[in-house]
Amino acid sequence: YAAKTGHLRQVAYDPRLDQHNPHRLGLLGQLRRAITGGELVVFYQPKADASSGAILGAEALVRWQHPEHGLLAPNEFIPLAETTGLIRQLTSYVLATALRDCRAWRDAGHDVSVAVNVSARCLLDLELPVEIQRLTEEHEVPTDRLIVEITESVIMSDPNRALEVLNRLHALGVRLAIDDFGTGYSSLAYLKNLPVQELKVDRSFVTHMRERESELAIVRSTVDLGHNLGMHVVAEGVEDAATWQELSALGCDEIQGYFLGRPMPAGDVIGWLGSHRALSSAQS
Ligand code: C2E
Ligand code: MG
Ligand code: MG
Ligand code: MG
Repeated sequence: YAAKTGHLRQVAYDPRLDQHNPHRLGLLGQLRRAITGGELVVFYQPKADASSGAILGAEALVRWQHPEHGLLAPNEFIPLAETTGLIRQLTSYVLATALRDCRAWRDAGHDVSVAVNVSARCLLDLELPVEIQRLTEEHEVPTDRLIVEITESVIMSDPNRALEVLNRLHALGVRLAIDDFGTGYSSLAYLKNLPVQELKVDRSFVTHMRERESELAIVRSTVDLGHNLGMHVVAEGVEDAATWQELSALGCDEIQGYFLGRPMPAGDVIGWLGSHRALSSAQS
């Protein structure tokens, strides 16, 4: 049931993930098997042009179809993967799956991109650009149709190494996005030096921007900042039409959120893209 509707178990604290919990080792073994045994599932959430509503792409969001616990949200296992090094295998799996699926969407006549979330730890690995080049070639997806979403935290860990990896990705033609922008501590001076084309305003500012003046101010300033740095600005967490309209008026380039579409199983994407296209051409 959960896999079909996309309902996720969301728990704030799960003792199974506690570093000191004896069950953690068990879960770690299960996660290792999950990655190789096909229990990871990639859902996709669409992104649209803010003014026309045209679909520009979709973001890959991983879930774990756990045999006993049901469909687990990434917050329940990504942190464990990140502290153990399993994140590298998980990222490889999601990248390969997302590029294969993007190939299928493009074959079905949708010129869309795919975005993949890549943890800071993976951005310290010079193998990542090599792997991404190989995968884009294998699946025949133009490199500029892949967006790698990173968070500001990448900047804190090992800035020089991360910058080297980001520069190599940029040289390949891959697009880079800063995810959850506004929640980290990156300095604007550093941001200006990153080869990034896209800023994603964090959902926490977007969802209530119409009720709270301070959040509206943050969104407005971020749109201006991004544009002044030559970046595309994307708002995540758009839950209603009025917020979409307001973002469009502020000059925000793209929107993403439950109002446009929730993350959906891969098998639903082509149908969704087709009906969205039919709907928007009927309206214009
Ligand atoms: P994110 O990349 O910022 O993704 C957006 C999250 O917000 C997703 O949660 C999405 O389902 C949720 N969301 C989207 N629109 C709305 C909305 O309108 N309202 C609300 N309330 N929520 C919305 P999800 O899928 O649980 O993912 C959580 C985080 O897990 C992601 O945040 C990302 O940081 C991480 N993640 C997901 N997949 C991967 C992956 O393959 N690798 C890595 N390293 N991290 C991943
Ligand atoms: Mg993201
Ligand atoms: Mg985000
Ligand atoms: Mg987020």
